[in-house]
Amino acid sequence: MSADLRDHPWYVRAEKRMSEVKSQAVNDAMKCFINKAGNDLPFYVADLSDVVFKYRYWRYKLPNVEPFYAVKCNSDPMLLRLMVSLGMHFDCASKGEIQAVLSAGAQPSDIIYAHPFKSNSFLRYAASENIDLMTFDCDQELVKIKRVFPQARLVIRIQIPDVPAGFPLSNKFGCELKHSEQLLQFAKRLGLNVVGVSFHVGSLCEQPSAFAKAIGMAREVFNTAKTLGFNFDLLDLGGGFPGASGTFDVFDKMCDYIHQGLEKHFPEGCGVRVIGEPGCYMVCSAYTLCTKVLGKKTIYEENDIEQNGSMCSKKIKKYCYYMNDGVYGSFAYGFEKYGFHILPLLTPKILSKRPIVHCKMWGATCCSSDCILEDCLLPEMEVGEYIAFDNMGAYTQSLTTTFNGFPAPPTQYIFPPQAKPKEHTLPPFEEFCRNLGPKQMKAFIKIQDYICHDDSNDDLFRKG
Ligand SMILES: *Cc1c(COP(=O)(O)O)cnc(C)c1O
Repeated sequence: MSADLRDHPWYVRAEKRMSEVKSQAVNDAMKCFINKAGNDLPFYVADLSDVVFKYRYWRYKLPNVEPFYAVKCNSDPMLLRLMVSLGMHFDCASKGEIQAVLSAGAQPSDIIYAHPFKSNSFLRYAASENIDLMTFDCDQELVKIKRVFPQARLVIRIQIPDVPAGFPLSNKFGCELKHSEQLLQFAKRLGLNVVGVSFHVGSLCEQPSAFAKAIGMAREVFNTAKTLGFNFDLLDLGGGFPGASGTFDVFDKMCDYIHQGLEKHFPEGCGVRVIGEPGCYMVCSAYTLCTKVLGKKTIYEENDIEQNGSMCSKKIKKYCYYMNDGVYGSFAYGFEKYGFHILPLLTPKILSKRPIVHCKMWGATCCSSDCILEDCLLPEMEVGEYIAFDNMGAYTQSLTTTFNGFPAPPTQYIFPPQAKPKEHTLPPFEEFCRNLGPKQMKAFIKIQDYICHDDSNDDLFRKG
């Protein structure tokens, strides 16, 4: 695979586009929405071109790995429709997620039911919709599947231990490699149809080489399966890829290890279909959240600081900002791991005059643990001003509650025309559209209707 893609003029242009054009377009959209809406709700700007770019980059780097987007990461219906129109497949974990992707236009054969523990009613629903590809990691689940959906095509999920990750998953799911033979024997005795192996190296995996190791472990299970009379033809690499802007380096490394592993254990022509389940990768950088300072209070807080090489305690002046969003909204458990940046929405001129101060950002509800950030250094902000957070597409919206009566933030969609690349070696964006089926085309046109067209020349973020 082309390791030197980064030097390719198309890539260089695309990356530049991602950082400059994109942030300009997102900024424009935020201004537009702030000016139009005039309300105090937080909102997202979703740059759909970012998702298209991620999808295409995946296909370029991993042409032999079909992406099944992990719906739990962000199930925004517009996003799902865009993905259907691109030809994405889906990893669903519940009846609700299956319904969401089916109503976005996906086909049952585009779905893997990738939750190792399924309720009877969800299983019956999957059977009724012909969604027959699903994972398992223990014998009790096999007994359940045998009773409810014996024709299902099953994928054994194995555990990849000791991989450092933002959110390790091996403690919850996966059969230990040494138990896989026993489990497969049990499946054989039940007469079930096991077709492949899946794993997940952990969300925000911190060790790219884990993919090569995991592919090697999967090979061992393939070999065992063969001796038991199974004929495996599916390998599922799971998720774990980073998705924040500027993390392509890490993604590229993971791709290299995946190619290494596949070349060694599943060489081309071996007849095995390889899929992946990216969540974060596809959506993290596409969403920017715009929040507002609703209130401000000055406090003096005891803080441990370093002075002349030793630690001492000192009272420091701190501004508390009371925001219109919080941990029960977009800033859910673990949000800080996904690579957000704080972007005060002030013109450069105003920004340059603001002192940098300590602040604490409180969330919108009355709960005392609803604190977004305990301590950060920011230009001093005033009530009514806006603060944006980028890289907020993964595990934000899908975890939002309406606790205390605060509604989920609405989303404004953009597709900057500049983001459609004109000349490069990859199929142009227009070609995607040309190859769409009627149903997919319909989904795509609907998306176009929702795209925000900014006609405002105002370069100030007005206070609402
Ligand atoms: C959550 C999940 C994913 C997506 O993980 P990311 O780290 O967001 O890529 C993929 N597969 C399964 C089974 C998951 O549970």
